Amino acid sequence: METGGNSLPSGPDGVKRKISYFYDPEVGNYYYGQGHPMKPHRIRMTHALLAHYGLLQHMQVLKPFPARDRDLCRFHADDYVTFLRSITPETQQDQLRQLKRFNVGEDCPVFDGLYSFCQTYAGGSVGGAVKLNHGLCDIAINWAGGLHHAKKCEASGFCYVNDIVLAILELLKQHERVLYVDIDIHHGDGVEEAFYTTDRVMTVSFHKFGDYFPGTGDIRDIGFNKGKYYSLNVPLDDGIDDESYQSLFKPIMGKVMEIFKPGAVVLQCGADSLSGDRLGCFNLSIKGHAECVKYMRSFNVPLLLLGGGGYTIRNVARCWCYETGVALGIEVEDKMPSHEYYEYFGPDYTLHVAPSNMENKNSRLLLDDIRVKLLENLSHLRHAPSVQFQERPPETELPEADEDQEDADERWDPDSDMEVDDRKPLSTNLQNSNVKREMIEPEPKELEDKKRVAVPAEVTDRASEDVSCSKASDVVPMSIDEPIGKVEQENANKPSDQSVQMYTKP
Ligand SMILES: [Zn+2]
Repeated sequence: METGGNSLPSGPDGVKRKISYFYDPEVGNYYYGQGHPMKPHRIRMTHALLAHYGLLQHMQVLKPFPARDRDLCRFHADDYVTFLRSITPETQQDQLRQLKRFNVGEDCPVFDGLYSFCQTYAGGSVGGAVKLNHGLCDIAINWAGGLHHAKKCEASGFCYVNDIVLAILELLKQHERVLYVDIDIHHGDGVEEAFYTTDRVMTVSFHKFGDYFPGTGDIRDIGFNKGKYYSLNVPLDDGIDDESYQSLFKPIMGKVMEIFKPGAVVLQCGADSLSGDRLGCFNLSIKGHAECVKYMRSFNVPLLLLGGGGYTIRNVARCWCYETGVALGIEVEDKMPSHEYYEYFGPDYTLHVAPSNMENKNSRLLLDDIRVKLLENLSHLRHAPSVQFQERPPETELPEADEDQEDADERWDPDSDMEVDDRKPLSTNLQNSNVKREMIEPEPKELEDKKRVAVPAEVTDRASEDVSCSKASDVVPMSIDEPIGKVEQENANKPSDQSVQMYTKP
């Protein structure tokens, strides 16, 4: 039973939505390094499932236009973006001070094609926001995005640029208020920090709290100055199951939607909150996780769905495939179609996996207490704040190529009739490509499995990444307060040990 969801004109929640889905065929080739839990290959596995379940044909499939320097600099510091653009595995030894300064090297390693990877995943999220702003779709999806830990001038938790902040800034050009919801197991610290002092963006994060990366997200952190009460944190403990999770998610999000009345919603669908995640410790089923998507969709407000964490990659692909179906209003069947990564899903070859019998450390009492506290915070927001619009900055016109088209790589420029003709077939250019192909590693549990799944020869043309060739219109600085770092005083609840611990922090 749902509480608080708006009724759709035609009744129940099965009504179709128009979906724009962003995917770059090269994204699966980026490789963080041997043993690193973050595997962009999971995005390609998700895409393969979508293709073989027949879901792509119900969506507009778009290849994102890479975000340019100036797009990234709408949030990030110039010198940080310059650093990301120039650093390579070969030159990093000469840049030790810079690496330290920008927190790049350990959890956030330098790898081949790092900057194009950032441009690609940020391009998808900003592109989704542009589509929503233009009313060209109801829901935009970018499973490669959702990298919520990146800061203005610092990488963090496997994240380099914060595509979510950039997408929200884009949505704010069109919408007075934007809601951000984060169901990754980790606190959405980078996004919260960026909008901590504004009432135009409300951030709500559900996460494991207590001796866990990134250490922030205390229930007492509620925003500052004009942003007071516009940040909500839902601290949870190990083993939370579907029922416990929804006993908080629906009442809280129902109240947020009723009071804040956002013009657009961004939902970060980090899949490390699923049962059995390599780094996570929650016990959600895919249906329990997807219930959050279903619920946010039911409000019929423009919705941007993003990826995030997720380290048991077969379950990540399962989850985001199922959630794409939820977005479309299509219930996909449990029996998995045969496809190039089929071996990952044995022995059952089903979409759904049973949660474990681990202990749920979230007692009823604790959950009730959290819900009461958060609803009390929300009662301070009596009505949606009215926003004095300054002169509205122009839309970012990010051109995107439609994968359905014969030539998916024919990039166009909104400001000119000239076609960008710098295509290079990747298949004939692998040696020169700055993207290393991922050597698919088994996950720890699969180490015994000697069967190796070959990287499919799924190569497509790709336009070169020369930023200086981009000609899309200039972006005018936003009219809201610049996103800023959270003031120190508000961080009083941070655990004292913020030291870097390899791979305990996505
Ligand atoms: Zn995470």
